[in-house]
Amino acid sequence: MFFVPDGTTKCGYYECTECGDRFLSLYTVPKMVCPSCGECMDFEIGPDEELPEELETAKLLQIVEGEEVEKMDTLLSLAISGGDYEWL
Ligand SMILES: [Zn+2]
Repeated sequence: MFFVPDGTTKCGYYECTECGDRFLSLYTVPKMVCPSCGECMDFEIGPDEELPEELETAKLLQIVEGEEVEKMDTLLSLAISGGDYEWL
């Protein structure tokens, strides 16, 4: 599983404050909707309405650039598939 396309030179590294998911995104905004939490939620709002602020539970931890992108992507993929990668 890969988070960003090959050749990505800049992406955001996010951690969700709700479920603890860590992921990479091509976006580098301060916060965004967590893909895991967002999927489970029922959106009872119209397409023209803004997403409620509280859905943006994923916070930008850092911006990853250059060859670090591929490293992070690999590490995160291993963490998900292996499940025993220690982050701390
Ligand atoms: Zn989440």
